[in-house]
Amino acid sequence: MLNAGDVISYREMCAQENFDLQKGMNFHLRGKFSVILMSQRKGAKYDDKVEDEGRMLTYEGHDIPRRAKGPEPKDVDQPFFLTEKRLTENGMFFEAARRYRDHVAPAELVKVYEKINSGIWVYNGIFELVDALEVTSQDRRVFKFKLKLVDDVEEQSRKREVNIEHERMIPTSVKLEVWKRDGGKCVTCGSKENLHFDHILPYSKGGTSLLAKNIQILCAKHNLAKSDRIE
Ligand SMILES: [Zn+2]
Repeated sequence: MLNAGDVISYREMCAQENFDLQKGMNFHLRGKFSVILMSQRKGAKYDDKVEDEGRMLTYEGHDIPRRAKGPEPKDVDQPFFLTEKRLTENGMFFEAARRYRDHVAPAELVKVYEKINSGIWVYNGIFELVDALEVTSQDRRVFKFKLKLVDDVEEQSRKREVNIEHERMIPTSVKLEVWKRDGGKCVTCGSKENLHFDHILPYSKGGTSLLAKNIQILCAKHNLAKSDRIE
């Protein structure tokens, strides 16, 4: 079970989902959750945005795959259909968002992982897919998906019969600053295993996610030792 803010390798992320994650968008992967992979690193392929102090995420839909003699993926519309009857991941997320908007279905629950460095991923928590838009960007169709951090974790856990852990999402820029400052290791013991982005003053006690000075890297052992002290 992961907590939001946990740092994991690509292999651990796949093990967590029990799936070989090759695509950024994975609709309804294990029955109850969808999974998306995001990146806000320099030169990232898609324009993903974190808004509203880490509560809202705008995730860009995906382009057609690059093929040897095919068009440049950034020059053509993002695809909705795979074949006449089958939807792409864009299509499946889009229809799910519309079902929610039209009060036909509860919001799709989406686990979000973010790449912060080569081979280094952070689990950002569980979001609800609340809307989907089709926009025109540089003369082509692009999908934008709106995801909202699940706030009422206990309520959601009860309603959906799933186990959800929770902490406010830390913006990418803050994660990168902290990662660099703390040298990618636990500030207490220097371990590089089972790392976690820890709120020094917890979010529930008024601590912010927005400033690097309130965030530190701890290993699982020292993170646990700390929560025992606070509770
Ligand atoms: Zn430690």
